[in-house]
Amino acid sequence: MKEEDLIAYLLSQKGQKALDEGIGDDCAILVGKGGYTLLTTDALVEGVHFDRRYFSAYFLGRKLAVVNLSDMAAMGGCPQAALLTLGLPSPPEPAWVQEFFQGLLSRLGEFGAKLVGGDTVRNPGGIFLNLSLVGHATWAPVRRDKARPGEIIFVSRPLGASAAALELLQKGVSCPDPLIQAHLDPEPELLLGQALAQKQLISALIDISDGLALDLKRLCRASGVGAILFEESIPFHPLLSGLSLEAPPLHYALFGGEDYALLFTSPPASQDQLTNLTSSLGRILFPVGRICAETGLWLKTRHGDQIPLDAKGFDHFAFGHKPSS
Ligand code: ADP
Ligand code: MG
Repeated sequence: MKEEDLIAYLLSQKGQKALDEGIGDDCAILVGKGGYTLLTTDALVEGVHFDRRYFSAYFLGRKLAVVNLSDMAAMGGCPQAALLTLGLPSPPEPAWVQEFFQGLLSRLGEFGAKLVGGDTVRNPGGIFLNLSLVGHATWAPVRRDKARPGEIIFVSRPLGASAAALELLQKGVSCPDPLIQAHLDPEPELLLGQALAQKQLISALIDISDGLALDLKRLCRASGVGAILFEESIPFHPLLSGLSLEAPPLHYALFGGEDYALLFTSPPASQDQLTNLTSSLGRILFPVGRICAETGLWLKTRHGDQIPLDAKGFDHFAFGHKPSS
């Protein structure tokens, strides 16, 4: 059973469909009197998501925070409190514990969240880390199911660096520092996500954890629409061009995972306001395609052909063991 089939099964269970704001988005949404509460959880598993040969305790702590903070960014929420489950194969060295918590707490603290509890257990299979994050929003969180035909598709920054770095790290060959940083310590887009949600200039929002193609497919499926990506507009990290990688840079931008950039849609009429907002934040957005009514995903190549795009992002059960969120 694939991950998406498991989620579809959960949604088919009695009572779950009624949870309109529950399973299916980056965070669950609880509507309250003072605004919205947002809930998310994500795990990092040794041998699946990371390898201790190149992941120090400090960066593991930071990444565990980021994979969750990025889901909060993908709703436009403000992180508040986190719970940690720490599964360890053997009693840890004090230095490992100190480094791990320094990493975790530094990233959580940077975005206003506190660690408020958790559980510690023995796990003979290796290190198992899980964080659950609670946040809030006084404005309406942006879901992934409201994209409409004719809207423009944006990504918040160049893609592919994390997946390219992973390939080089796994091979044990040298890799430029900015790419290593993109893999070990990616930036969650909280400020951008919050600003976009607050100003109501976008219709649908998701973070790119499993590759542009697959996460766009998820956004389209939730919204009941399709999309065309323009090959020439897809930004990839400039350092990818000079490396000896197994595939061309575009491949990493489309199918590589763990970028943690934001992917969103916005009506053409909002473009001027959107540009004003992002330049006030000192940011540039990258328009990469258009939403269309016909369901499916296409790539318009630089030669003008329109080819169907297989969303070969990462699915834990469909593609075997390869790091992803
Ligand atoms: P993301 O990559 O944004 O963290 P996932 O692809 O992990 O999201 O999950 C998609 C949706 O399915 C989310 O709403 C998540 O909460 C839900 N989900 C995934 N696995 C489970 C599970 N085992 N039990 C309940 N809900 C799940
Ligand atoms: Mg997500």
